[in-house]
Amino acid sequence: METVLITGASRGIGLELSRQFLHLGSRVIATYRGQASAALEALKATGELSLYPLEVTDPEAIASLQEQLKATRLDILINNAGIKGDEHQNLDDSDPQQWLKVFEVNTISPFLVSRAFIPNLKQSANPRIITVSSQMGALSHTGTGMYAYRSSKAATNKVMHTLSQELGPLGFCVNPIHPGWVKTDMGGDNAELTVEQSVTGIVKLIQGLTSERNGTFYNWDGSVHQW
Ligand code: NDP
Repeated sequence: METVLITGASRGIGLELSRQFLHLGSRVIATYRGQASAALEALKATGELSLYPLEVTDPEAIASLQEQLKATRLDILINNAGIKGDEHQNLDDSDPQQWLKVFEVNTISPFLVSRAFIPNLKQSANPRIITVSSQMGALSHTGTGMYAYRSSKAATNKVMHTLSQELGPLGFCVNPIHPGWVKTDMGGDNAELTVEQSVTGIVKLIQGLTSERNGTFYNWDGSVHQW
């Protein structure tokens, strides 16, 4: 049985990832900020789910969770927690403090969480670190505005690319992925994909990942995304 740790699991993509991995019979360690949502709590009835609080920007909270899980083998870590930031991130109107906050959550936290759980992942025969990034962080993607969000995801991609080179020789598979434009609180009602569609693709992709596919940026449907 594989064990999957998912951050930001109270709602949106993280909640659906938890639901689908449980449905597949995986053991899921889902983390949430503040209070676990009722929807996440309800998943306990569907499989082997353990819930832990984790504010991903808090290094002490990360260390405390690692300590609690230090005897646990992890096969898959999914850095899912992320924020879009508010509206003040355009050419004429940007807030540097908010920009730093977006970087803290979207870029630095996935690095800190990944680093903390390397010992747990090393116990797996097929360790995978997946980070839910965005096409908005791809240099190949065009668009304007959203400077904080775009740059945070571009930096996340580079962090994960670097981590893939460092951990590849140890048999790890480290991949950022673009989940598509998904109907969640962040993606909004006009998004192209339901959360079920996106996550069905992501789960299938993750299940097929092995170390030969280390260091590639993927789309939710398993196709390769240009950096
Ligand atoms: P949601 O806004 O629906 O959910 C975000 C989740 O992240 C929530 O559970 C939230 O917790 C959690 N979170 C945010 N900040 C923190 C923090 N500091 N510590 C712990 N948890 C935190 O977004 P989505 O589900 O749509 O997004 C998930 C990921 O997918 C994000 O990384 C996002 O950037 C990425 N993405 C989404 C797209 C989309 O179209 N939806 C497109 C491209 C990428 P809480 O409930 O407490 O706020």
